[in-house]
Amino acid sequence: CGIFGYLNYLVKRDRRFIADILMNGLHRLEYRGYDSSGIAFDGDNIEENNNNKRACIVVRQKGKVEELEHAVKSLENIDWNGEFSIHVGIAHTRWATHGEPSAVNSHPQRSDEQNQFVCVHNGIITNYKDIKQFLINRNYIFESETDTEVVIKLVKYLYDKHKNENIGFQKLIEMACSQLEGAFALLFKSIHYPGQLCATRRGSPMVIGVKCADAFGSNHIPVMFSKDLRGVFSPPLLITDQATTDLTVAGNDRSIEYYFASDASAIIEHTNQVIFMEDDDLAVVNNGTLTIHRAQHEVSGQSTIREIIEL
Ligand code: GLU
Repeated sequence: CGIFGYLNYLVKRDRRFIADILMNGLHRLEYRGYDSSGIAFDGDNIEENNNNKRACIVVRQKGKVEELEHAVKSLENIDWNGEFSIHVGIAHTRWATHGEPSAVNSHPQRSDEQNQFVCVHNGIITNYKDIKQFLINRNYIFESETDTEVVIKLVKYLYDKHKNENIGFQKLIEMACSQLEGAFALLFKSIHYPGQLCATRRGSPMVIGVKCADAFGSNHIPVMFSKDLRGVFSPPLLITDQATTDLTVAGNDRSIEYYFASDASAIIEHTNQVIFMEDDDLAVVNNGTLTIHRAQHEVSGQSTIREIIEL
């Protein structure tokens, strides 16, 4: 029913601050109605060949957001003062369509017990039974009754299948979503893609908020066009009119924060600079840079103009 995500890049935030932002985002979405909620955020480093992979903590709860808040506060062995200069968190309020309201059916849904891939979803995947059977035949074990779980397990399946090709997060999500039918807004996080957040939509809304305090202390958002153009503009601005051209925002080691939400009302208190995603857009934040890419299985007749709009 409601989606919220937060990513900070080169802005130091402690875990308590991040958890509060996620919870606050969920409170802003409560008016839409829901029966359960959940969040996922970064845990401690996983000591594994010196990379910066971090564990992923998932907390899900049936009932009110306050009950989730309580469950998060009572987590044990969490360093709430631990600081991150790059962190990714996602959050969800669920209105159950497939599977009763319960903790295990709440989102984030996960790929496995290690939470290697997690996602939050608004909408309905109409062909979930076929995908589920495909994955069950390949020894995937399902823990929930949701349509959403097939999405995240399909992502894991494709990740394992293409492991040697080193494919990017955006490409991976694009491959998975090309198999989906129905309506969705989806937000993904993975321990294999630290500091990255990936979003897509088809038939359900998704808004990206950008907050950038640049070196001059202004709110000007640096925008790069992926091919040749690059520069600093003050919004509102036209990002691209080329369906084939990826567009990118910011980067270049600037401190920046991104907010993803199904509803601009959850973002507006943080920033009024927003981009409305269109159907079959794939957005990824990597190294603080936002790239919006048109999916290959493009549907015709859609606007190919993306603007940073000042709300
Ligand atoms: N169909 C999904 C579920 O039942 C998502 C529902 C929603 O949009 O909250 O879990």
